[in-house]
Parts: sequence; structure tokens; C-alpha cells
Amino acid sequence: MDDPSLGIYLHIPFCERICPYCDFAVVRSRPLAHEVEARYVEALLAELALRSPELPGRRLETVYFGGGTPSLLSPESVARLLVAAQGSFERAAAFEATLEVNPSTVERERLPAFRKAGVTRLSIGIQSFDDTVLRRLGRAHRATEGRRTLEAARVAGFENVSLDLLFAAPDQDEAALACDLDAALSFAPEHVSAYGLTIEPQTPFARAAARGQLRLPGEEAVARMLETLAERLEASGLVRYEISNFARPGFESRHNLRYWQRRAVLGLGAGAVSCEPPGPTAAHGARRANPRDLARYLEGAERGDVAAEREVLAAHAARGEAMFLALRTAAGLCAARFAAEFGAPPRAFWAAEIERLVAQGMLIEGPGADLCLTPHGVLLSDSVFEQFV
Ligand code: SF4
Repeated sequence: MDDPSLGIYLHIPFCERICPYCDFAVVRSRPLAHEVEARYVEALLAELALRSPELPGRRLETVYFGGGTPSLLSPESVARLLVAAQGSFERAAAFEATLEVNPSTVERERLPAFRKAGVTRLSIGIQSFDDTVLRRLGRAHRATEGRRTLEAARVAGFENVSLDLLFAAPDQDEAALACDLDAALSFAPEHVSAYGLTIEPQTPFARAAARGQLRLPGEEAVARMLETLAERLEASGLVRYEISNFARPGFESRHNLRYWQRRAVLGLGAGAVSCEPPGPTAAHGARRANPRDLARYLEGAERGDVAAEREVLAAHAARGEAMFLALRTAAGLCAARFAAEFGAPPRAFWAAEIERLVAQGMLIEGPGADLCLTPHGVLLSDSVFEQFV
């Protein structure tokens, strides 16, 4: 095993309210009943006990509570899960435990106890500091709650705080985004994730868009927003280390880097996905997806068989994935590492595409044929990635 490290992702599928653009595996739970939480936590512990023997010799580097709204869990549940995860594997000295938090009064009051439970990093779902934008996004919180949660995170002693911003929201313009950036930077976060709103099929937003009831910023406005965003965040010392993620040096999300670097992640919970790096049973890695349906997941975990679907990646799919995941990062693609896995450097598979993207100023080919996106390529990253799938 070249890389014995491991990350664990725990999916917590409960939300107080379902946002109209969301297509994650979530269920509405308001409030989260004690017995529902207890049953789900037991299921996660059972799945961990089931899966951890399959991963002998792994060193646990990260645990990530994602959702859904993980901060709806009690600090006691978070502590139990963290203790169990760390007891199932050797724990790395530099250990990161992230909890996604939504801004609300109850969750804010729990922050000191989450820290005591062993959480080292918070990822706070601010999305916007503009009440109009928050209302149009159907979010349960308002800007004041976002501000108070960020303040409470510092008071609780968290020194590694990330905030999520959403842009290209309905009726949002560049001036509104600039205000959001000012507000975000006033809290001096160690990390910012900024994602453009995407309209996912089968969501209320998709239906509203089909009826012409959603006024979304046009392509040019979105491109200008992306530029503004990068300029403002980078001017404040946050380095773009991935297309949508900015961090002060040393505060990159070590868990999320694992996905872009195709390293091992054990996904636990309804709808969670595990990532297996290349190994004896899958020459180019595999994905293992748990059932998204909560009842199906619970029943499976309780009988000792989650019925996850495992997909072994074919060489061509793995090559494309290796390419676009690496190109998402500022470090780019290491051609030598790619060649070690696939037998030849990227040019052997995509010579014409690479030539064209370099000529169009979207890709830079460095020494040793390493590849990375230019700022122009970052703006048009979707069309770059299409070339490699
Ligand atoms: S809070 Fe997040 S996970 Fe929950 S419904 Fe809204 S977007 Fe989806």
C-alpha cells in the first residue's frame, strides 16, 4: 500500500428545511427527534464496525461530518462517532475533524461542546449575508444568524473556520456578491468555499426555471462574479488551491483534498460514497455508494449489510477522472504520476485536446509535461473537463 492514510466521511441526512435547489440525500427533520438521531448514530457505528476490518493498516487522517446538517446532531453523538472512528484505526498525529454547521441558534449554542467533542474545524453554511438572497434560496437562516454563528465559532475557540458562499443566486448581481465578500472577509476566515448555484434536475428550482420564474444571472455576469470573487479573496491572503476553494496557507481542507488527489475515503451513512484508490481488487480504483433512501440504509446497517453498489473504474474512466480532479487543483496534474498509473503520460491519450487547450490559453504545459489550468481555463473549467471524459 503506497499511501496507508484514510479519511472518513459521515453523511448526516437531516435538515430543518429542504432548500429548493438541493439534490443531496436529505430528509426534513424539524426538530431532529432524539430516537431518530439515536437510531441513525447506531447505524453509523454498526457500519463503521462492519467496514473498518476491510481496511487493515490504515492511518486515519481526517473525519468529515457532512450533510444534510450535521450540527443538528448532539455533541454527545458527534463525540461517540469521533471516538469510534479513532478507535477503529491508528490515528495520524495531524488529525482534522470537520463539522458542517448551519447558522441557527440551537447549533450556535452547541459550538463549545462540539469543540470539546474533538471537532477541530468548522465549515459554516453562510451562503450569503443578504437576507433577500437567503430568502430566494429558501434558506432557513438569516444574515444576522450567520454573523452570530461566525462570532460564536471564534468565542468557542475554533481557529480553523471555513465559510461557504453561494453565488449566481436568483436576482443576485455583482454588487450584492461584493457585499457578501466584504462581510465574509471581515471575519478573517481561514478558508472560503464559493460555489455557483447549479440547477439540478427534479428540484423545485428546476421546475421554477422551466416555468421562467427564476431570474438567474447570465453567463457573462457569472464569469465576472467568478473573477471578482477570486480577486477579492486572493487580495486578502486566501490562496485559491482548488477551483472553488480558497485558504490561508496551511488551512486547506485536508479531507476534501483527498477526493481531488484520489486518496482513500470511507463513506458512511445514507447516500455516502466511498473512494477506493487503485489496489489489488480494482486496478484503477473503485466507488462504493450506499443507498440514498434513509429507511433502506437503516435496515441494511441494522442487519449487517448496507447493500452498497460498488463500481470498479475502467481504465478510460479513471484516466479522465484523474485528469479533471487534478486540474481542479492549483497544483495541477503530475504527468509522471499519471504515467506511473496509466502506462503513458496524458499526451499519449489526449494529444490533440491538450494542443488545442494550450493554444486557446486554457491550459499550461509545464516541465515534464505537467498540466494546470490558466485563469481563463478556470473560468471555463467545465468545457475544459469535457475534453477528457
Ligand atoms: S441545508 Fe444544505 S443539505 Fe440541507 S437542504 Fe439546504 S442545501 Fe440541502
